[in-house]
Order: sequence, then C-alpha cells, then structure tokens
Amino acid sequence: EIAAEMNLAEIFRFVVKANQKYSEMLGKEIAIEGDLQVDYPTSHYILMLTLLNNLVANAVEALNQYGIIRIHVFEQEEFTVFSVIDSGKGIPEQDKEIIFEPGFTTKFNEVGVAATGIGLSHVREIVRSYGGTIKVTTPEHGKGARFVVSLPTSTLRK
Ligand code: ADP
Ligand code: MG
Repeated sequence: EIAAEMNLAEIFRFVVKANQKYSEMLGKEIAIEGDLQVDYPTSHYILMLTLLNNLVANAVEALNQYGIIRIHVFEQEEFTVFSVIDSGKGIPEQDKEIIFEPGFTTKFNEVGVAATGIGLSHVREIVRSYGGTIKVTTPEHGKGARFVVSLPTSTLRK
C-alpha cells in the first residue's frame, strides 16, 4: 500500500540516508549534516523527495573525495525553506541561470554519475508549480554552492 502522507522528518531522513549511500558508491567520504526545524505531514512527499534528493545528489557529485553537505529545513513566515550547502567545486557566476535549463550539464562521463542535466529543471518546475522560489548563491565561506528553495507551507501541508 502506498502511504497517503509522509512527514518532512521522514523525507529528510530518507534523502540523507540515500545520499550517504550514494556518496559511498562514488567512493567519497562525505558527512551529511542536517537541521530540521519544522515538521508536518505532507501528501506532496514524492515531489518533496524529488526536489531535495536532486539538490543533495548534485552536492554529492560536486564534492571531491571529502566534504560536508549541510541541509537546513525551517519555516520563515508563510514559507517552508529548504537550504542545501556544499563545499564542492561551486558554480561559475555566468552559469547560475543556465543550470536550470533542461539538458544543461557539466558532468561528462564521470564514473557513477548519470548526468542527464534534467535534475534542476525538474526542481525548478516543482518550485514553480508550488508558487515558490529557488535561489543559488555561493556560501559565505566562498567555496561551493548553496541552493535555497522556499515553498508556501499552506500548499505543502495538504
Ligand atoms: P546533472 O546533475 O545531470 O548535470 P542538473 O540539472 O542536476 O543536471 O544540474 C545541472 C548542472 O548544474 C550540473 O551539471 C552542474 O554543472 C551544476 N550544478 C548543480 N548543482 C551543483 C552544485 N551543488 N555544485 C556545483 N555545480 C552544480
Ligand atoms: Mg543532477
């Protein structure tokens, strides 16, 4: 039987666990740290899993042998915010728009990486369909990438 709902906490744990495994498959030693400040059940969990998993898998792929990924989920006014920060190779300023286009990828024949260039376009489509926003920046420490997605809580909480 397929569940009708999943808690944000379960979605979060699922994505952390799956990507911990993924990083090991790629032979990387990556710590995935999480901080979940809000929890509620959502029937939109497949889309939430897709969204968060795409961002975290990209972070895993952006890191070299070692690294840290930080995931924060919190509430800000009427929005639920998902922030994923990695200390990987980062995104050149001139690519920060085009990365969301379907088919754009910079991953060429890397072993273990299925680079279709579709992940972020799917993420952006999910964000749009929920009336949310997505932003990509360089973290304060100057290395890596930070993706921040804000989605209206009232829409998720159904
Ligand atoms: P894919 O992962 O198949 O390449 P995506 O749509 O998920 O496709 O990402 C598109 C491109 O955006 C990647 O190829 C990469 O160049 C860039 N990118 C996405 N996330 C990150 C990240 N966390 N760090 C560096 N580059 C990233
Ligand atoms: Mg991807």
